[in-house]
Amino acid sequence: MTYSYSAPVSQSLFDRAAAVTPGGVNSPVRAFRGVGGTPRFMVSGSGPYLTDADGREYVDLVCSWGPMILGHAHPEVTDAVRKAVERGTSFGTPVEDEVALAEEIVRRIDPVEQVRLVSSGTEATMSAIRLARGFTGRSKVVKFAGCYHGHVDALLAAAGSGVATLGLPDTPGVTGAQAGDTIVLPYNNLDAVRAAFAAHPREIACVITEASPGNMGIVPPLDGFNQGLKDLCRADGALFVSDEVMTGFRASARGWYGIDGVTPDLMTFGKVMGGGFPTAAFGGRKDVMDHLAPAGPVYQAGTLSGNPVATAAGLAQLRLLAADDFAAHAVVDAAARQVRQLATEALAKEGVAHTVQTAGSMFSVFFGDFGAAGVTDYAAAKRQESFRFTAFFHSMLSQGVYLPPSGFEAWFVSAAHDERALARIAEALPAAARAAAEAVPA
Ligand code: PLP
Repeated sequence: MTYSYSAPVSQSLFDRAAAVTPGGVNSPVRAFRGVGGTPRFMVSGSGPYLTDADGREYVDLVCSWGPMILGHAHPEVTDAVRKAVERGTSFGTPVEDEVALAEEIVRRIDPVEQVRLVSSGTEATMSAIRLARGFTGRSKVVKFAGCYHGHVDALLAAAGSGVATLGLPDTPGVTGAQAGDTIVLPYNNLDAVRAAFAAHPREIACVITEASPGNMGIVPPLDGFNQGLKDLCRADGALFVSDEVMTGFRASARGWYGIDGVTPDLMTFGKVMGGGFPTAAFGGRKDVMDHLAPAGPVYQAGTLSGNPVATAAGLAQLRLLAADDFAAHAVVDAAARQVRQLATEALAKEGVAHTVQTAGSMFSVFFGDFGAAGVTDYAAAKRQESFRFTAFFHSMLSQGVYLPPSGFEAWFVSAAHDERALARIAEALPAAARAAAEAVPA
């Protein structure tokens, strides 16, 4: 595919990057391998907009893959960060904001009685799995195909996100010993989970699932699926681990937990709670969390865990989200609803078969005909017409709308996506829908 526009400064930066960094990026999906073309190097962000190194402005529908729920450079978050930086950037001691951030999470998310702060979602899920194994004295872990829990060795099998975008079945470097205790099952299939427990009674430490998957595109749990997982875990003495790194404080004010109310034993968080900084968390039942060092024997630590600048940013963002009875979430919900509606209208007008799938304020578009059931698992997600997404993506990009560069990713909006930003999306959609209609497989 050739593109009718260029980004010379981004391209030269990408060329420089490729000489010193594998594939030119520090996280694979950023390289645009799923859609081709030149990844944009951004130089600044403000509210719903990003500006790239060529001076072009975009309405941002990625929001840093979720964290920027209040938009870029929110003045009050920036102010909290500036003040924290001026006090010193890292002490390697406890600080009050860590306590306040933990209290903020515990207050909002009922199943979380105690929480430990870490520096990435990957660390959160890795630590939660270790804790589940330490607590139960069991080895096996159940995960679902298409769910992504970060690049934890044991959880990379049939993973979503960049692993799906690049079409990687498994990852060299993960040994049989590391992955041998991982049981990968089809998503939304309780019979498969039942069969796994029957085949491995009292051997499974935990079932980990994205609370509502967003890393194979948005594929929400069918009614009763999460509760079924919880019940099967309880019956066998395994732990139910809900990964809310993406959905937490975004799908709703209380994340996916706020929508389906199923009580996990452990939960993981990241993205929004870090306010655009590397902070994440795992937490849950106190009797389980008590097994963590120094209270208990399961070791877990981090030089920059609870970093004062990162916690100040996360705390500021969570407090702003909660202000005026969570008013910002209503704005995010409304913006998401409007973008969904605009996209589906434009695609329908051009006769492009598609389905828009929704999880609270999160959504994504699958190109193709998926019938009334929609996309309910990874096998279906992989049947999407990626060539149409590619044409759609590049048309939007050329018109100044920055979408996730893969059909396996969620679209994200923020409370800063105002009428002007939405109008620009609306203007871009008709041509993008036409490009999708006219697209042919490569
Ligand atoms: N879990 C989920 C559900 C995610 O979406 C992600 C990242 O996208 C992670 C875990 C890993 O988080 P991080 O990229 O901060 O390591």
